[in-house]
Amino acid sequence: MDNIQISRILYETAFWMEMAGENAFAIRAHSRAGTTIKRCGRPVTTLLREKKLQTLPGIGAGLAKSIEEYVTTGKLQQLEELRSQFPRSLYGLLRIPDLGTKSIRLFYETLGIATLESLKENSLNGELAKLRGFGKKKIEKLLAGISFAEAQEGKFLLPRAERAAEEILTFLKTLPQLQKCAVTGDLRRYSVIVEELHFIVLSSEADTVLDALKEKYELQPVEKNEKAFPVFQTPEGIPFHLSFVDEASHWIPLMLASTGCAEHLAQLKTLCKDNGISWEGHVLTDSAGKTLNFETEEAFYEALSQPAYPPEVREKIQLISSDRPLDLVESSDIRGLVHCHSTWSDGAHSVEEMALASSELGYEYMLITDHSRSSVVANGLSEETIIEQHQEIDRLNVKLNGIRVLKGIEADILRDGSLDYGDDILKTFDWVIASVHNGLDMTEKEATDRLIRAIEHPYTAALGHPSGRQLLLRPAYDFDLEKILDAAVANQVALEINASPRRLDLDWRYIRLAAEKGVQFIISPDAHRIAGLQNVRFGVAMARKGGLSSCQILNSRSEKEFLQWQKKP
Ligand SMILES: [Zn+2]
Ligand SMILES: [Zn+2]
Repeated sequence: MDNIQISRILYETAFWMEMAGENAFAIRAHSRAGTTIKRCGRPVTTLLREKKLQTLPGIGAGLAKSIEEYVTTGKLQQLEELRSQFPRSLYGLLRIPDLGTKSIRLFYETLGIATLESLKENSLNGELAKLRGFGKKKIEKLLAGISFAEAQEGKFLLPRAERAAEEILTFLKTLPQLQKCAVTGDLRRYSVIVEELHFIVLSSEADTVLDALKEKYELQPVEKNEKAFPVFQTPEGIPFHLSFVDEASHWIPLMLASTGCAEHLAQLKTLCKDNGISWEGHVLTDSAGKTLNFETEEAFYEALSQPAYPPEVREKIQLISSDRPLDLVESSDIRGLVHCHSTWSDGAHSVEEMALASSELGYEYMLITDHSRSSVVANGLSEETIIEQHQEIDRLNVKLNGIRVLKGIEADILRDGSLDYGDDILKTFDWVIASVHNGLDMTEKEATDRLIRAIEHPYTAALGHPSGRQLLLRPAYDFDLEKILDAAVANQVALEINASPRRLDLDWRYIRLAAEKGVQFIISPDAHRIAGLQNVRFGVAMARKGGLSSCQILNSRSEKEFLQWQKKP
């Protein structure tokens, strides 16, 4: 049980307490405790063992007892009782962007709305408009939010899909009837979000393997599964299915076919024909009719005189072409970790802890970019705390070997496009990432103007998470991408490929266009804790999907080159 899980339980308790009209002070205490625990650098389970839970700010005896109850029993009685008073679907309404508990409670108490469907119905039939404060504009926005939430149904972020896939693979590998298995499909191609998992299996006893799975996993209900083969689902509802081959020589053709994408596959089939290879079902044969047995996908691509296309680049916009050699950035090219948070703002670990962890991962430098003062909920840095943080970084750089800590900031882009501090403060940073965090309710023109003004700021070195999307939670704001790209090139501002699996922003589909215009990039983990440093690999996968090579990634340069790239007045 980790801190994130525990914080989720506290947030959920706060939600139901508010639904039940409990004391506002107690509600706030629960949600604050959720934040405290989310940002706590040490595992709560350890603090509990050491009887130090109450040393955390805002965790009194009552909350400590609740947390202990949840950690030891896996349940929280108070939460169970609260849940039992209401339809559980109410909690799911929080998935609608910008909809808060207050409104959900109002809808439930006045109109008995408890589900997404009924909220939609009441928005459309005019019932919601009878409530005070729900004018036409607000309802339109709500309906857009409902559509967004509906569209996210049954979608999963990469890490969750990866975890589920690993569990299934571990189980499959225990089955003696199975010679080989692997994950394929969207997850193997690093799709931004995953809707189902696909595995391939080499076994001559497919039925026995399927029976073993039926014992362990539930089958997807018939009305959801329109496919001819059984679709299973994990306990958390992620659907998965398997494809079988019983001959080792069929393995590579199946792997290629199941990985996709369809367009890439069609190209491969044409190339096969050109090279005298026939591809029928999962069988590849040469012109003499002899079965070809490729050991690896690389060997197959070689037979077609092609570079080995790694799974993540087998996409429609990255079609095989002879004029564009594959020279893709690798994880090992990344020399510096940029965009990291620490306990100075809303991170869980100190600058030193983050630096040591980065050093252990083999990075040469780390750019600490805590939040700026306008990000109040994220504990943004005041002008005084910036000075203190810089003193700490100077001390650390004397003490630490093998890694250098750079002074950065993730400066909020204010509504008018200006940055959060004056030039006298901004000039004290080595690097400034400018990001939009609030005031997301903008027209396309407002957003474009706001971003361009921030790009034109002399101290902006990179634009953080350019589109503002949070996968499954919030769509991107509309903005004129071409104008932003042109402004970035003209003002020598890099665009971020934010590697947090919740963001993956700039989206890889736009990376190629940006690169063609000459944009430079940073791949950043946006890490709020040590574990988040590992996000970089998702960003690298996105950069590869966008066709980038290491020379287009600023943080694959040396510290000196990285710093020199930044133009400062
Ligand atoms: Zn941010
Ligand atoms: Zn950030």
